[in-house]
Amino acid sequence: MTDLTHYIGGKHVAGTSGRFADVYNPATGEVQYRVPLANADEMAQAVEIAEKAQPKWAAVNPQRRARVMMKFVDLLNRDMDKLAEALSREHGKTLPDAAGDVQRGLEVVEYCIGAPQMLKGEFTDGAGPGIDMYSMRQALGVTAGITPFNFPAMIPMWMFAPAIVCGNAFILKPSERDPSVPLMLAELMEEAGLPPGILQVVNGDKEAVDAILDNDVIQAIGFVGSTPIAEYIYGRGCSNGKRVQCFGGAKNHMIIMPDADLDQAADALIGAGYGAAGERCMAISVAVPVGEETADALVAKLIPRIEKLKVGPYTSGKDVDYGPVVTAAAKANILRLVESGVNEGAKLVVDGRDFSLQGYEDGFFVGPHLFDHVTKDMEIYRKEIFGPVLSTVRAKTYEEALGLAMDHEYGNGTAIFTRDGDTARDFAARVNVGMIGINVPIPVPLAYHTFGGWKKSVFGDLNQHGPDAFKFYTRTKTVTSRWPSGMKEGSAFNFKPMD
Ligand code: NAD
Repeated sequence: MTDLTHYIGGKHVAGTSGRFADVYNPATGEVQYRVPLANADEMAQAVEIAEKAQPKWAAVNPQRRARVMMKFVDLLNRDMDKLAEALSREHGKTLPDAAGDVQRGLEVVEYCIGAPQMLKGEFTDGAGPGIDMYSMRQALGVTAGITPFNFPAMIPMWMFAPAIVCGNAFILKPSERDPSVPLMLAELMEEAGLPPGILQVVNGDKEAVDAILDNDVIQAIGFVGSTPIAEYIYGRGCSNGKRVQCFGGAKNHMIIMPDADLDQAADALIGAGYGAAGERCMAISVAVPVGEETADALVAKLIPRIEKLKVGPYTSGKDVDYGPVVTAAAKANILRLVESGVNEGAKLVVDGRDFSLQGYEDGFFVGPHLFDHVTKDMEIYRKEIFGPVLSTVRAKTYEEALGLAMDHEYGNGTAIFTRDGDTARDFAARVNVGMIGINVPIPVPLAYHTFGGWKKSVFGDLNQHGPDAFKFYTRTKTVTSRWPSGMKEGSAFNFKPMD
């Protein structure tokens, strides 16, 4: 069996800690590789290399840094099929979905080509007599990112592209479940012209993460993953004086009003609930039809659509709607939560528990499930299931439906399906969730807007990508300057406004 490596100082480097994790092909259940799990010494070596390389990179003018991103975009397009295949093989998602994962990362890289414009700073000519005032955005130094398994191409790119184009060095600690694509991305960045040491991949688990959190040189940390880990990383990183942004879990509600186009809503729920086996932080996991009639009609439309879903390996190409979940442990957790829903009295109207795929009996496939009559107190409602399980919570009124989304501890995304502009507008204005869809089930903002939830879906203030990323990965320095006669005419000792 092949062992994967780290990517440190422009080279593939074998792990030295002696610890490894298995990387599976979730479709077959086979172990394909072992990924090394770095210890604190290995992390420290990468940080040292990054610290040495970063000042020179920060001194490269922004236009030239942007050209590396331009070239990187070309290389991503050149290698799209290869990247998607490697991604599907470790994650399990279908090939078109894997290409979408790369594409949504690539779009942020494209946005980063605008770095010279974004980093121009501000200038006030004549802030006082002979006085100019200007602000510049400078790189932080060495930064790091810790990413989840579910978007192994997109989320690393959302972090490292803005960090690097701003002049930082970046150390990526990707998910140990699917580390191959992140390693490939680091190679491509160097092929695009990035100097060695500016983007490094250090594989690992909690030990490597803690080494990032406690390292004095690392200035800023981006994290995306589950909420308990987000909370931990935010707390420890901040108390160590770092700039930290953490994006956590989700329980996204979709409200279906009685005036909605129910066929459109049902189609949307199928894609948003079961696509990528429900392993998306923007997946819809709760359907909230308003009124009994809407609920009965919606569930009746969902059942045949769910029963038609094709579940299989990515190698079956276009014939597959979604693939396996990422690990046997993830599968076991999903099935345990389904049992808990049944035991707590929810009605399992589509039961995927006995799903098995001939020839892939050892794969981590989970059949689609649909619950009806789910209530607020049930574990399947409170917890993020992260699998192909959609819960229907029936609301009597719009206010009750809105209240459900408002009261849930997560606030990543939400959607409303309606033909009434006034209701949609009211919903968008009042709901305490970060990303809202109006007749759009998965409202993931494009690269030039920003991405982020509210409540327990986020720790920190700035969002991912868009203008926020340029703020997160730089700090402001403001210069007040006077040249002509300066201090020759006498010093000023009082702190006074500009004349
Ligand atoms: P996870 O929290 O298990 O792992 C995320 C990262 O944290 C990985 O790199 C992992 O190695 C590391 N990690 C795990 N346990 C740790 C520990 N005890 N100490 C330190 N580091 C640790 O998440 P996951 O299962 O990889 O991803 C799924 C989760 O990510 C879901 O909750 C999903 O909603 C969330 N997610 C959120 C967003 C968002 O933008 N809000 C996007 C994608 C995924």
